[in-house]
Amino acid sequence: MAKTLNPFNLIGQDQTRQYWESLLQSGRFGHAHILSGHSGVGKDALAFTIASILNCKSTGVKPCGECSACRQIRNLEHSSLHLIFALPRRSASQTDPFGGMKDVEMDLINAEISKKIKWPYYHLQIDGANDIRISAIRKLRKDIYLAHDTGSVRIVIILRAHRMNVEAANALLKILEEPPEGTMFLLTTEFPDRLPDTIRSRCAIHHMPDLSWMLIRDDLVAKKGVDAIQAEISARMAMGDLAAAHTYAEQDNTFWLDRIRATLNTLAREDFVSVHKQTLLLNDKELENDESRQQFLSLLILFFRDVALNIKPGDTALWVTQVQQMQKLFPACDSHAAIQAIERTKDALSRKVHLQLALTALFFELRKHLRGQSS
Ligand SMILES: [Zn+2]
Repeated sequence: MAKTLNPFNLIGQDQTRQYWESLLQSGRFGHAHILSGHSGVGKDALAFTIASILNCKSTGVKPCGECSACRQIRNLEHSSLHLIFALPRRSASQTDPFGGMKDVEMDLINAEISKKIKWPYYHLQIDGANDIRISAIRKLRKDIYLAHDTGSVRIVIILRAHRMNVEAANALLKILEEPPEGTMFLLTTEFPDRLPDTIRSRCAIHHMPDLSWMLIRDDLVAKKGVDAIQAEISARMAMGDLAAAHTYAEQDNTFWLDRIRATLNTLAREDFVSVHKQTLLLNDKELENDESRQQFLSLLILFFRDVALNIKPGDTALWVTQVQQMQKLFPACDSHAAIQAIERTKDALSRKVHLQLALTALFFELRKHLRGQSS
């Protein structure tokens, strides 16, 4: 088999890729597809790859990554590529999703797009961009019914398509019912169930599996030059999300291990003051935000999993010393109960409960589980 090229740096997903390559070669594919899968598995990278395969001008392996079409798609500036994503609402315009936006705001959006061009796994971060509104779909409708270069396949990519509001989804449905010729729709989403049935029934749904943490670890070592321990912690905490792993890996080397040590010290002590100090730190607006608290709790889960698995030196490079210290101090530790308590707190925090109370309750519960006093 010819060497496959990978201009969008799609990581893993060999089966998915092979499936798409043969589907596109067969020429027998529908015009609308949903690419689903957890955050960071490579849905957008796959969508861009499909767009390139369909438009690549090379006579050899596609996508070549070199021809004008491949380069334009990689820079998200191909005239047949229509990229739709959530934007903040600045005007009541029904036809211009960018209507009413100031230059500064446009600059920020363009900066986000540049990051996406550099790395398709990047999650766009645009303030106030909560949904995809009808203006975006109306504009799309206007654009795609215009004549276009017949040598190319028009590609509509809707990022995080579940963010379409009802009006936008209805407008898209009308287009899907009578699509212009030579057009492929690719909707990427973590939550295909949030798309209306009417849209889903018009699309082929393709699920992309999670990436293994080993694959993510190797990518971190290769692309970011992160050391092995740091790469392993970040990869495992990310739970299949390559983009999250890259963010975690940006913390300095000892950051995660220090957090585990500090938490263990708190839990090992009997006094209220040390628990109180820990929860104050986690509440500090300068140090923490919703995301970093969730990361911290994921880290704790990971740690208790390793305690439950009874890891030994040689099994893994990760925090073996801390795990052993914990097992020595608390031989009766009920790790499963501890993990459940942390999972519950993670869920509660995502629903905006009283932070200080939830964390204090968690620490006291963990202290009981450490001593095997669950029931
Ligand atoms: Zn090409």
